[in-house]
Amino acid sequence: MTPALSLTDVVLDYPDGEGTLRALDRVDLDVDAGRILSLAGPSGSGKSSLLAVAAALTRPTSGRVAVGGTDVAELAPRERARLRLERIGIVFQQPNLLGSLTAVEQLQIAAHLRGASPAASRARALELLEVVGLAESSHRRPHQLSGGQRQRVNIARALMGSPQVLLVDEPTAALDHERSAAIVALLARATRDFGLATVMVTHDTEYIPLTDAVATMHGGRLAPAVPAGASASA
Ligand code: ADP
Ligand code: MG
Repeated sequence: MTPALSLTDVVLDYPDGEGTLRALDRVDLDVDAGRILSLAGPSGSGKSSLLAVAAALTRPTSGRVAVGGTDVAELAPRERARLRLERIGIVFQQPNLLGSLTAVEQLQIAAHLRGASPAASRARALELLEVVGLAESSHRRPHQLSGGQRQRVNIARALMGSPQVLLVDEPTAALDHERSAAIVALLARATRDFGLATVMVTHDTEYIPLTDAVATMHGGRLAPAVPAGASASA
C-alpha cells in the first residue's frame, strides 16, 4: 500500500548569515491512512519545519515529499495549490478564527474557496461541527467560545475539504489538561473515522499514548517511529 504521506531523505536548509542552518537532516517518514503519529522533540528541533514541508508550503532543499503517491515537486504551482486545498488539512497552534464570523461561517469560507455552493457547504459545516462536539454552538462567534471550543472549530475547518493528510502543530499549547486530552482524543477519532494520515506535533509527552506511534526529532534528525504505548514506559 502506498502511504498517504511519505517523506524520503528530506533536507531543508535555511539561509543563516554566511552559511545555512539545516532544519531537516535526511528525514524519512511514512504515515498510512487511518494512523495518527505524534511528532515529539525539543523546541527548535525542526518539527514545524517538517509540517511545512509535508504541507507543501515549503519546498525542501532536497528529497521527496509525496501525498497519496503524488510527488509534490513534480506539480505545477497551480496543481500544488490545489493539492493543498483538496488533500491536506492544516491545524496551526493558534486557531486564527475571524472575530466577526460564527462557527459555521468559519468553516464555510474554506469551502467557498473550493467553489462549493453555500447550501452544500453549510450542510457539511454543520455535520463537521457535530463531529467535533459543537452542534449546539454553530451560531457562536469566537469570543463566545472557550479555547478548547475554538480549537475544535479549527479542527472542523481543516476537515472541510475531506483531506487525506491532516497536519497539526501543538494543538494543546493553550489548553488545560482536560481539554488537551479531549482534543487529542478527537484527533485520534477523526483520524480513524475519516481514514486520515495525521501528524500531530506535541511538546506534551502525556498525550502521546492517545496516538498510534511517536517519532522524535533532535537537531533536524528524525528517529524512526515507535508504537506510542512503548514510549510511555521507555
Ligand atoms: P520546532 O518546531 O521543533 O520548534 P522549527 O522547525 O520551528 O522547530 O525550527 C527548526 C530550526 O529552523 C530552528 O533552528 C529555527 O530557528 C530554524 N527556522 C525555522 N524557521 C525558519 C525560517 N523561516 N528561517 C530561518 N530559520 C528558521
Ligand atoms: Mg514549532
